Amino acid sequence: MSNCNRIHAINAVAGRQTPACQKAESASLDHFGEDVFNVTAIRKYLPKTVAKKLLATIQEGKPLDASIADDVAHGMKEWALERGATHFTHWFQPLTGSTAEKHDSFLDLNEDHEAIMSFSAKNLIMGEPDASSFPSGGLRCTFEARGYTAWDPTSPAFIKRHSNGATLCIPTIFCSYTGEVLDKKTPLLRSIQALSRSVSRLMKCFGKPFQHVEVTLGPEQEYFLVDRNFYMYRPDLVQAGRTVFGSPPPRHQQLEDHYFGAIRSRVLAFMTEVEHELWKLGIPAKTRHNEVAPAQFEVAPIFEELNLAVDHNMQMMEILKKVAVRHGMVCLLHEKPFAGVNGSGKHNNWSITYGKENLLDPGNNPCQNAIFLTVLSAIIRAVDLHADLLRTTTASVGNDHRLGANEAPPAIISIFLGDQLADIVEQVETGAVTGAKSLDAMRVGVDALPSLSRDATDRNRTSPFAFTGNKFEFRACGSSQSCADVNTVLNTIVAESLDYISEKLEKTGILSGDAEFHDELQKLLQEIITKHKRIIFNGDNYSSNWIQEAQRRGLPNLRHTMDALKPLLEEKNQTLFARYGIFSKSELDSRYEVFMEEYHRKIRIEGGIALEMARSMIMPVVVEQYRQLVETIHVARKGDFKTGISTLNVCAENLGEKLDQLKVRCVELEAALGKLHEDILEAMKNLREVVDALELMVDDSRWPLPKYREMLFIY
Ligand code: ADP
Ligand code: MG
Repeated sequence: MSNCNRIHAINAVAGRQTPACQKAESASLDHFGEDVFNVTAIRKYLPKTVAKKLLATIQEGKPLDASIADDVAHGMKEWALERGATHFTHWFQPLTGSTAEKHDSFLDLNEDHEAIMSFSAKNLIMGEPDASSFPSGGLRCTFEARGYTAWDPTSPAFIKRHSNGATLCIPTIFCSYTGEVLDKKTPLLRSIQALSRSVSRLMKCFGKPFQHVEVTLGPEQEYFLVDRNFYMYRPDLVQAGRTVFGSPPPRHQQLEDHYFGAIRSRVLAFMTEVEHELWKLGIPAKTRHNEVAPAQFEVAPIFEELNLAVDHNMQMMEILKKVAVRHGMVCLLHEKPFAGVNGSGKHNNWSITYGKENLLDPGNNPCQNAIFLTVLSAIIRAVDLHADLLRTTTASVGNDHRLGANEAPPAIISIFLGDQLADIVEQVETGAVTGAKSLDAMRVGVDALPSLSRDATDRNRTSPFAFTGNKFEFRACGSSQSCADVNTVLNTIVAESLDYISEKLEKTGILSGDAEFHDELQKLLQEIITKHKRIIFNGDNYSSNWIQEAQRRGLPNLRHTMDALKPLLEEKNQTLFARYGIFSKSELDSRYEVFMEEYHRKIRIEGGIALEMARSMIMPVVVEQYRQLVETIHVARKGDFKTGISTLNVCAENLGEKLDQLKVRCVELEAALGKLHEDILEAMKNLREVVDALELMVDDSRWPLPKYREMLFIY
């Protein structure tokens, strides 16, 4: 029996019983949404007039009538109790990037000291978690540490189940005593409002009646699965979510056989349970497949209203992790758990609807086309003016490993339109304002767009921001990141550009019905395109030429988190956010502080765990192997053997040399831990080099850390 942990783990995985195929029950969607206080529940549990008012807030964005809170609380409590909930919690999204909850039971005592179940309007609307330990970036000193949570009625309450009961979760925003924002939901909601206002304003210019504006999001979520037996013997995965050591195996992803391959039955069983859990919560999981790297997968929902979709993605990440454990696996959401194979991202599919119309749908008549081209031009302008801010929202320790590593978009933000649409945009730019139509010119509002085919050429996977038929797909988000930040920025910058256009149109005093309207619009779009077309790039974003080309065009290339966070401090950005009431200057400053601090802390943790593993797990086995070699040489010399001794000598020399290096690099990392993050990263890289080389030299039966070939292929 080996006393090597890794071998135990392999045996445990190998000995796992594969469950036989069960005869499936007849398929049904009966459970969809059963754990959400959704429209059906609202209608069933609330008085008619109350339900109507609440639904007007949820579906049409009308301000909430505060007088209904008592009735809503009562109905929600009844509903939750029937589902076995004993507790409730305000569920919020602090700057840690994950979700937070603090449970209170429904239990209360009446005057006779009898237990009753109670849940009031106040409980629903406002919470006061002792929030002194959440990151606030100096917005809140601990002596005045009160943070407040406030109900977000536009995202439905839901039930979170555990093996022994259930909790009613109420989505809330989170702010400080003085009203400063401490979470990711508040700015997102504000940005949705800002964009809605700007869209309405533009539509008015086009002479359209008022309609409800909805921003939509469909986030595609990538993740890895590893068997829990391996995970448990990888302190780096446990502590940092990624492997700090590990030699890439001969076979990794080069055969390209995993992507869209047949899904293994163990994984499929996991995915099915995940979907079941998601569906119960009304989260419309739609697609599932194998991703590029071995042991990497993706799940994507049907798109929904943005605020809801972000909440749903936060829930989805939690469910992926929870269900994996039930299947003896661990779900890794880190952006780069394994060096040498692809990391994980989150494609952020974003669009705007006005009434029932998708504004990013080119449409099939000149008027719809004109609106589409106007919105498109606004987006081009917005992304060109604020590429830096979009980049900021993807900055993180984990994502630093991915962006620009030929598996994810580079750190340079650009827009992909596809050849066809790029051609149309060019035609608009050269387009004739009035009179005869020259060759390859487009008259906005007069000519009809050719129908855009959504063929394979429109599938440039290397672009950070791609037009994909009827939506934009922002692809630089990390898999573990909340989508709230990027969409807050996207909404705000597009709102600003829409307002820029509306203002110009309004100033002309020309109404949409007038003959000159489209001429004015054309002039404006021409000007915008000429000025901002440098942001459009339809080529290969991975090529080194692009980096030089982008530099020539003056596009920012913020390669690492430290640089990528700086735009938060710039005056132009602070002015923009203040103008739209998204963030004040102090709120932006605080965010910068929080994200910087998080970055430094995480690097220090990674460095710390690498050092500990090298010294306490790797060093001892190397020493042991060295000792055996030296002893063997000693014995062989005594035995006066003619062969083998020189080989043994070489082995001992090589191993001894690496052992010395290992010691030196540990000392260097230890010193670096007291210095800057660059020093830590450099020292970790150097240490990894030696450890990964040793992995290939040390007796396999002795190597303590589960290897890549095991974690990625045995499950
Ligand atoms: P892929 O990009 O992987 O080929 P799809 O383009 O079909 O997949 O969809 C990716 C995601 O985009 C899905 O979550 C889908 O619901 C979402 N999506 C589709 N249309 C819209 C839209 N109008 N707004 C936001 N998201 C959308
Ligand atoms: Mg996609």
